[in-house]
Amino acid sequence: MHVPERTRSSITDPSAARALSRCDELAGITSMEGGILRTYLSEEHHRQNDLAASWMQEAGLSTRIDAAGTLIGRMEGREPGLPALLLGSHLDSVPGAGRYDGPLGVIMALEVIHRLAPHRDQLPFAVEVVAFADEEGSRFGSGLFTSYAMAGAWQQDWWEHTDDQGLTLREAFESFGLDPTRIGEAARAPEEIRGYLEAHIEQSTQLEEAGRALGVVTSIVGERCFTLTVTGEARHAGGTAYHHRRDALVGAAEMIAAVEEIGRRREVVATVGQIEAAPGAVNVIPREVVFSIDLRAPADAPREAAWEEMSARLHELAEARGLRLTVEEFLRAPAVECSAPLQKVIAAAISTTDDAGAEDPLHTYSRAGHDGVAMSEVTEIGMLFIRCTGGISHHPDEHVTAPDVALGIQAFEAGLGAGPQLKMGLADNGSGQRVQLGRLRPSPRPPDRSTSRTSRRGGRSCPRSARSRTAPPSGSGST
Ligand SMILES: [Zn+2]
Repeated sequence: MHVPERTRSSITDPSAARALSRCDELAGITSMEGGILRTYLSEEHHRQNDLAASWMQEAGLSTRIDAAGTLIGRMEGREPGLPALLLGSHLDSVPGAGRYDGPLGVIMALEVIHRLAPHRDQLPFAVEVVAFADEEGSRFGSGLFTSYAMAGAWQQDWWEHTDDQGLTLREAFESFGLDPTRIGEAARAPEEIRGYLEAHIEQSTQLEEAGRALGVVTSIVGERCFTLTVTGEARHAGGTAYHHRRDALVGAAEMIAAVEEIGRRREVVATVGQIEAAPGAVNVIPREVVFSIDLRAPADAPREAAWEEMSARLHELAEARGLRLTVEEFLRAPAVECSAPLQKVIAAAISTTDDAGAEDPLHTYSRAGHDGVAMSEVTEIGMLFIRCTGGISHHPDEHVTAPDVALGIQAFEAGLGAGPQLKMGLADNGSGQRVQLGRLRPSPRPPDRSTSRTSRRGGRSCPRSARSRTAPPSGSGST
């Protein structure tokens, strides 16, 4: 493996080696055939909490499980009871996952705790490591339940969500040993939190293409998802002349090509990931096609403009072939901006490392959703990205290098003010804090408050079957 010269000295970093071996260990507690699967309120959830709690206790943290099942480890600052800076990520996974999406952020936070602990008598805040448990939404089809619970944004209608076995979220809570009536106790007040910082693999290729190990996240992508139904007419494939056909599949094919063309030109990310044609016989012209569109952008305005053009173009294409087109929106999540002061802290922290181009760190937006979307409802959020090989994620081949993880831990550490860069970071040695997190304005509320929170998950994947989705969120509806 080629290792860049500037990071070579980090290869033997014991923190990075331990972090990677712990990611392996977490992967080992799951046993999905052909990959990893850890879902919310499952046996694996108990096991991941037990294992990570043992690491937290070894690092000197006091641990607890909150009312939603999130594992939290706390280190007090220079006096007990100070507001806490939260560091974390999630331990749940998608089916057939890799080892690093989520766990790496929790485990890197623990490595930082090891380095921060000797300075705790100077820390002007407490530090908590949080291990969320439902970022991916793999079991109840939604996601971010645990971080929304911490943000005090739990929605009562979530209790009726069901898993593949028909078990409701409420029933799953009870069988896990949690009390649904106490969910409100998971909520944290804004004044007891100083911010939320997450390290995460990039899940894209901006860093790799730039030759960087680390990046500053500027925002978490906003997303809209739609189910489109194209209706034509089923006729005999042999006997129907072209000028008599109303072929729903050919019409859908033109629409899909248009979605990509508009997405490319407007520099938003548009994907058709699901398609079904009916009746689905070799010798019958397709009567109906249902397909999905997943539309993402770093900010809401370019996404809305792209959708307006797409919607108009798709209706034109339908009309030209005598087809009927209906569009149902099933997810709308506004983009969430990372706090500007935290972006500065993370950029300054990266600049203290040996990463290539560290003096001018790469800023990029996250193309996937994260727990920070939910946490932005209650506090400032910041994210540090770690390069992942080929941008591959949600796949067993997900990969990060030890030198990159070592750089990430160094940056994280510098950002918090531990170690030799004590003056750089959030702690600032307890005097004259350059970054006064406690005085930051609360995060701006997203503009689209009419949309239900179930639909406000940033960057979630569309459901497995576009056809099976039920009612769209309030405030959206057919377009
Ligand atoms: Zn993740």
